[in-house]
Parts: sequence; structure tokens; C-alpha cells
Amino acid sequence: MALNIDQIRQQFPILRREVNGHPLVYLDNAASAQKPEAVLKAMTGQASHAYANVHRGLHTLANETTEAFENARAVVQRFINAPAPENIIFTKGGTEAMNLVASGIGQQIQSGDEIVLSVMEHHSNIVPWHFLRERYGAVLKWVPVLEDGSLDMQAYQDVLSERTKFVSVTHMSNVLGTVTDAARIVRLAHDAGAQVLLDGCQAGVHLDIDVEALGCDFYVLTGHKIYGPTGIGALYGTAEALDRLAPYQGGGEMIEIVEQDRVTYNEAPHKFEAGTPPILEAIGLGAAIDWLGAFDFEEITEHEDRLYRRAFDALSSINGLRMHGQASGKGPVLSFSADGIHPHDIAQLLDRYGIAVRAGHHCAQPLMTHLGVSATARASFGIYNTVEEVDAFIDALHKARSMLL
Ligand SMILES: *Cc1c(COP(=O)(O)O)cnc(C)c1O
Repeated sequence: MALNIDQIRQQFPILRREVNGHPLVYLDNAASAQKPEAVLKAMTGQASHAYANVHRGLHTLANETTEAFENARAVVQRFINAPAPENIIFTKGGTEAMNLVASGIGQQIQSGDEIVLSVMEHHSNIVPWHFLRERYGAVLKWVPVLEDGSLDMQAYQDVLSERTKFVSVTHMSNVLGTVTDAARIVRLAHDAGAQVLLDGCQAGVHLDIDVEALGCDFYVLTGHKIYGPTGIGALYGTAEALDRLAPYQGGGEMIEIVEQDRVTYNEAPHKFEAGTPPILEAIGLGAAIDWLGAFDFEEITEHEDRLYRRAFDALSSINGLRMHGQASGKGPVLSFSADGIHPHDIAQLLDRYGIAVRAGHHCAQPLMTHLGVSATARASFGIYNTVEEVDAFIDALHKARSMLL
């Protein structure tokens, strides 16, 4: 059964609004996705009926809130096929998850140890590793991308050695849409004796994720790109990897015993969840995943890919446009630049027609350098976008171009 996009759209209140006198055409999903009523209601419903702080509670509301919060953890676990809820750590987003891992393995890093990244990483999967370079003398190794935007697997293989301690790469690029061969990346890294983190902040909403099949040590999700709230992300780690990882923040909940001259830590996931967690946000994330899980991932992929293809074909017929990222099997992210026009001007003119696209370096400056541009414009598609919206985008792009050239 094909997706009923009309019915899906009706569940997103924001899609009814107009922008600058035009119906909103929201093509900035790779930066943050809109939220369905099911998510908004799950959060306000919890706050209105059963809210208290979680864990250690001895009263009804505390128990009910804890149950809902831990249920959200189990929802995330099933979503990515993790073996147990204890493999899932709630963070405040994708960025915090990456920082948590980098910080936690920092002490295991010795000067000269190598950390492998790709040039298409998001800054949140780059800067935490720079910290290890600055603090412990880690050496960052960069895997390039090929002309079509796919990861250069030969270069990746060549860079791995007994010095490689950690590999941290994206599962889907937020600029190129490239889907990496994550299972193979993991296998090769493990053969070299290195641990692997996969940044699934983009992949989580477009692909059916199975961390057991991927075999990774860590996997990162962010709530606000999978139709969930901001302020919540999830870090998956194998029991072994989490056990080896030093705690990130100190505070309540993450401890076992605290004395004046001694502290011992709780087990995962609590070891990594110091303080009051983002309770309502976690519950909202659970609701988002439940909502998304009602659809068939293959149908979502097919729908989004159709939108992407239509936009890509239309842009291909415009002279002086350059599209970045054409790897086969890529996600619905369309980055482009136009000769003689700054991407910011494109985005601002499109906004006049109610069309939201992003322009800039997309938190991926090493990739911009690699591509030889300072910025790109980016249209990214989600489950609620339509063919009519793609046509409105193309139409407005033609108008914008003729104004700018
Ligand atoms: C958005 C994004 C991040 C950062 O996630 P936040 O939850 O916004 O902190 C990291 N990596 C990729 C690929 C992203 O698209």
C-alpha cells in the first residue's frame, strides 16, 4: 500500500501555515524535521497527566513517569534492533552523543594513536576528536570522497593500521546524501583492532537501522530529525564498549557510591545519564519513533527518492548549476551551487515564495573545502513532502535565478 501523503500531512499542524503569502514548502528536513501531532500530544499529555522526576520515586506519578521514560528507551532499542534497553543512552542530541564517546575514550588515547574520520563528517563528529588531538596527541586521519560523493573505500582501507584506535564516520552525509557502506566500514575497522562509531543523525530517518547487523560499537541518533523533539538524542553502545567507556558528566543517577575520597559508578545506561534527563523529550522521541514505525521504510524511501529524482532532473536541465553528491543509493538530500550566485541569495529569494531550503556550510567545512566551495544550497525531503512542492521549488528557483543573473 502506497503512503497516503495527504493523510500524513494532516498530522503536521505546521504544514497548514503560509509563509510570505504562499503555502509553506518545507525542504529543510535535514536540518530539523517538523513534528506530528502524535509527538506534541505525547509530550503535553505526559506533562498534563503523569509528570514527576524519574527513578527512585516512591509515589505514583514518579512511577508512571519512570515507566513512560523507560518505555521510550525500549522503543529506541527496538527501532535500531539493539539487544537490550541498557544499550541505549539518552543524550540531549546527536552532538552530545558524539562528545560523550570522544570524551569517554579520551583516556584510552595515547600520543600518536590514530582516529579515522571522513571528509564529509558533520562538525559534531569532527570537533570532539580535535579535542583528543589537542589534549592527548591523537592523530586525525581523513578519508576522502570520490567524485560522485561516495566514500573512497580504497583510501579507507589504506589508512587503517595497527595505530588506528577509533573510526568515526557518518552513515549518511547531511550534505551529499551519501549512504556509506557501514557494515563493511565496521568489519575493516574491527579487523584493524579499532572501535567504530556510526553517525546516524541523517540515516535514522531514511533507513531501516539494524545495529546488530552493522556490528558497530556505537551508533548515534538525534530526535529532532526523526520527527521528534529537540533536546533529545540516543547513543547506542555495545555492552562491552559502554563498559570500557569512562563516564561523561558527574552527578545524580550516574553513581553507585559517593564518599569523601571515593566514587563508584552505576551501570550503563545510568552511568552516562547524570542529572535529571530530558524526560518529556525522551517520551516525545518514543512517540516519534512509534509514529514513524507505522510506515514501511521501503515505501518511505521510495517516496522520498521519487521527490529527490524529480528535483534532481529538473535542476540538471538548468545551465550553470552544480549538484554535489550523486552516489548510488543516496538519501534525499540535494546540495547544489550556481555559478555567480551565492547560495544565501538563493535561499532568501526562495523564502519569498514560502520555500524553506538551507544555505551555508552545513556544519561540514572540511567537505566544503574538499568540494572547492564555501557554501551550498540544500533542499532535503521528508515523508510529508509532495511532488507539487518539488515543482513549486523548481518554479521558484527559476524565478530566483532570473532575478539574480
Ligand atoms: C544534525 C546532525 C548532527 C548533529 O545532531 P544534533 O542533534 O543537531 O546535535 C550530527 N551529524 C549529522 C550527520 C547531522 O546531520
